[in-house]
Formats: sequence, C-alpha cells, structure tokens
Amino acid sequence: MGSGQRSTRGTVVAHFGIAVSVRFDDETQRPVDVRRNSGHLVGDRVEWSPQGLKSLPATGVLRRRDKHGRIHSIASNLDVLGVVLAVRPPSPVGFVDRAIVAARAAGIEPMLIVNKADLAESAHLHEQTLADYGSCGRVFLVGAHRGEGLDRLREFFAAGRRGVFIGTSGVGKSSLLNAICPDVDLEVGDLNASTGLGRHVTTTATLHRLPGGGELVDTPGFRDFGPVAISPRDLAQHFPGFEPSLEEPCRFNDCSHRSEPGCSVLAAVRSGALAESRHATYLQLLAELDAIEKDARGY
Ligand code: GDP
Ligand code: ZN
Repeated sequence: MGSGQRSTRGTVVAHFGIAVSVRFDDETQRPVDVRRNSGHLVGDRVEWSPQGLKSLPATGVLRRRDKHGRIHSIASNLDVLGVVLAVRPPSPVGFVDRAIVAARAAGIEPMLIVNKADLAESAHLHEQTLADYGSCGRVFLVGAHRGEGLDRLREFFAAGRRGVFIGTSGVGKSSLLNAICPDVDLEVGDLNASTGLGRHVTTTATLHRLPGGGELVDTPGFRDFGPVAISPRDLAQHFPGFEPSLEEPCRFNDCSHRSEPGCSVLAAVRSGALAESRHATYLQLLAELDAIEKDARGY
C-alpha cells in the first residue's frame, strides 16, 4: 500500500450503538459513525468508503432471542462458543443444551469450560460434563482465580480461533476473560476515548486479541442465554445427544420426536441410550420455540 493511502478494509472491534471502531488491515484503528441499528456486528469484515461502511458477508453469527421474542445478533465470524459452567452458581436445566443448539445452528463449534477448579465439587462437574457433552465439543476444567488449566485454554485459542464466552451470571466469565486477556479493561477505556464517547459509555461488544493468539469477544450485559433463535423443525437436528438416533430415520418424515410411533429418538430413550431428562429438555425447548413461532404468526 502506497504512502498516504489508507486501508479501506478492516474488522469491527467495538460497537457503541452510534459508532463502531474499525481495526483496518494496516493496523490503524479509528471510529466510524454508523446509523443506530445499522446491523454492523463486532467481528464483521467491513469495507469503508466515503459513502459509509459496508459489512461483507459473515459466517458464525451468534444470535439470541430476548424475552420479547426479538432476535439480537451478538457477534460474527465466530469459531467457538465457550459455555462456562461452575458448581456455584449452577446453570439452569437445559442451559448447556440450548447453548449447543444455538452454536451448531450458527455453524460455531461449542466448547464447555468448567470454571472454579479450586472448589472441591468441580472435578465431579467436570466428569459429568465430559460424560454428557464430551461428544459435542471440547471440555476444559479451569480456574480463573488460581490459573488452573488456563494454558490449555490459551493454547486452544492460539490456533487463531475467535470465541465468545456465555454462561449464567456468576460462573466467572469476566474473571476468565481478564485472566487470559489482561488488557481487556484498559482496551475498552482506550476505545471509548478514541470515539469521544467517554470512558464509561457501555459498549455492546468488543473484540480482544489474546497475547498468545486468537481473539475473544466481550459482550457486557449480554451473556445469559434466552431461547435460541431457530425454528422448531431445526431443533432436533442440532440437539446434543440426538445424533445417533437420527441416523436411523423415524417412521414419519416430519416426526417431532414427541410421541409419534416409530420414532427413533423415543426408541433410544426406551433403550436407555438417551437419558430421559435430555429428552425432557428437548420437549421443553420445543414447546418454547412452538409458542414463539405461533406468537410471531399472530395466533
Ligand atoms: P460472570 O458473572 O460470569 O462474569 O462472573 P464473574 O467473573 O463476575 O465472577 C463471579 C464470581 O465468581 C466472583 O465472585 C469471582 O471472584 C468468582 N470466581 C471467578 N473465578 C473463580 C475461580 O476460579 N474460583 C472461585 N472460587 N471463584 C471464582
Ligand atoms: Zn422421531
């Protein structure tokens, strides 16, 4: 690139609602004004021109549905969704299943991170998580306070992966982010200073480079997970633990795996290959998604 010529392509590294911060490919970073609800996401590859900022097509877009049924996109071009768990506080029943469904539906690799390794019962939660979800993604046991297992986690991201942590409030997502990305708070302050929005304007999301490689998206205030934004029909296909049963087709093409005769998922429950509690979580999620879909159609 010749002198005086600026890169026009870059990556959105922070979103402030009415401005985004773009890290251009020549490593310069500057704020760009955008319309509210412009649709740009942290993680987006963008092209800048005097006419404005254009996002390029993205993959790995994580979406969530809020309690009013509105769908929010969290970040884009994500490789991994780190589902953080702890013995205290426990995550609600079905939380991990929802997160895995959301990740898979978005083409993002799910991973499970049991935090608070220093607590006695954590080893057991780790084993349980491995048994329940080890076939769905990697499972880590870490401690944000004392650093247990963090090197393995850093190594995982160092391969160039971009990830985001989600989990119930209090499991230690911020602590983990701070432990493996020590400059997070500092960077956010700098970003706000560069947009002129003041140090304490909350960002909706920020992208951080990890010292050893890889990136993490921080999404303050956006870390719990409501019902996933997928259609009821797509649920079974992504539901953790259904994979082996679905290799064997059900009698009916449009089987909802509730109570239909000749259902291979129900056969797996009867034979003990699939835990009944897992199926119950599926039914609950299915009912929620059905209700949302009916709501959306207005009847
Ligand atoms: P978040 O709501 O998921 O972001 O959780 P925080 O990072 O705010 O942490 C919630 C609480 O868990 C805080 O009191 C932390 O000090 C505590 N915590 C975080 N990591 C650990 C850990 O490795 N061990 C223990 N015992 N507590 C931790
Ligand atoms: Zn079925």
